[in-house]
Amino acid sequence: MKVHGQRARRTVFKGGRLLGISVVFGHNEEMVFPDDEPIDATAVAFARRVLESASSVAVLSGAGISTDSGIPDFRGPNGVWTRNPGAEKRSTIQHYVEDPQVRRDAWQIRLQSDMFSASPNDGHKALVELERSGRLHTLVTQNIDGLHVIAGNSPDKIVEIHGTVHRWECVNCGARGPMVEALDRVRAGEEDPHCLPCGGIVKSATIMFGQSLVAADLMRAELAATEAEVLLAVGTSLSVYPVAAMVPLALEAGRAVIIVNAEPTPFDQHATAVIHGSASVVLPALLTP
Ligand code: NAD
Repeated sequence: MKVHGQRARRTVFKGGRLLGISVVFGHNEEMVFPDDEPIDATAVAFARRVLESASSVAVLSGAGISTDSGIPDFRGPNGVWTRNPGAEKRSTIQHYVEDPQVRRDAWQIRLQSDMFSASPNDGHKALVELERSGRLHTLVTQNIDGLHVIAGNSPDKIVEIHGTVHRWECVNCGARGPMVEALDRVRAGEEDPHCLPCGGIVKSATIMFGQSLVAADLMRAELAATEAEVLLAVGTSLSVYPVAAMVPLALEAGRAVIIVNAEPTPFDQHATAVIHGSASVVLPALLTP
């Protein structure tokens, strides 16, 4: 197991209580370890203690938690957009609505998407353990793959801030339905299925570039960041706003922030603990009783 991290300098516990968010790891000290570097047990043990001491934990998950389930991220080294920057256009509502070819391509890509056959990995399962322990405040996910629900976290604890690929929606009348129904129509020969009640353009129920987030979801994310004792950010580059703002919001509110990601993020030097490694390995080490 390989975990990248920074070494603890001093404890922030007194009498078993978490005292605050003072940075206890050196500034970017030993940020890059060779591949064969053994686990930084100190960083993991410290982050585990922070989590165990907290009565409530908010989680922000990103595409990185699902790469070990076979779903590529967008901005990681093997990310979809890193390898093919043009693919970002397909995720823009204006292109989707204006260009029938973009929609036909999008439906073919959906038909072949790994998202509909992927299974949760040990990282998702560890977050189910966190909920079972009674300490999960809210699980805000940028992911559209539905794997937190499939893993067993309660839907009412989850905010799918960028929507879900498991449902379709009509751009015109707002009608929604299970994605399997729309995919069955594509398999049956419709290249660009339209809404049956109103004839409008159909897309997946995800938030595309150019669309606004759902205000109530954003409010829940902000509340989670400021209310929970600890914010655990997992598998996200923390570069997609406004949801990445959960981290500075939590820091400003005096909450502990733990970052688990394969690569450095812009917030590493401000976090209480940073562990660079795979979420499917690190989360069980942090959260499994
Ligand atoms: P991102 O692509 O910007 O960043 C993902 C981060 O995860 C990267 O920094 C990468 O280094 C890290 N990472 C990759 N594999 C990891 C692993 N095994 N363990 C830990 N970290 C790992 O993703 P984002 O910040 O979530 O934003 C991209 C947007 O694209 C999201 O908002 C989401 O809506 C969408 N998206 C979703 C999925 C999905 O649902 N699974 C997949 C790709 C993109």
